[in-house]
Amino acid sequence: MTLEEARVRAHANGYARAFERIAKRIEIAADGCWLWRGHTQRHGYGQVWFRGQARWVHRVMFTIVHGREIRRYRRKTMHIDHQCFVHRCVCPDHLQERTPRKNSGRHRPKERAA
Ligand SMILES: [Zn+2]
Repeated sequence: MTLEEARVRAHANGYARAFERIAKRIEIAADGCWLWRGHTQRHGYGQVWFRGQARWVHRVMFTIVHGREIRRYRRKTMHIDHQCFVHRCVCPDHLQERTPRKNSGRHRPKERAA
């Protein structure tokens, strides 16, 4: 998905303002990752203000592009797993819902600088 395709989807889903706030602060890397250049927290995950709460930016991106909340698994919301292992990446193609168990069972091949 290109940034423009993500923009069209986010706008159609009613999240134009949230998308534009995030889009201003991402940089498209040569390997396809969309690197968050805004505030980051623990482990390099990006954080953004969304619906009155500080939220993880990759989770917000997932919600606004797909136009739905992240699914629930048992009593918790599912993890969003980075297929690229780059924590600050917000590219929708690199983000996938996983149950907590599956996510924690995966190992990153190596640390990647973002
Ligand atoms: Zn990525």
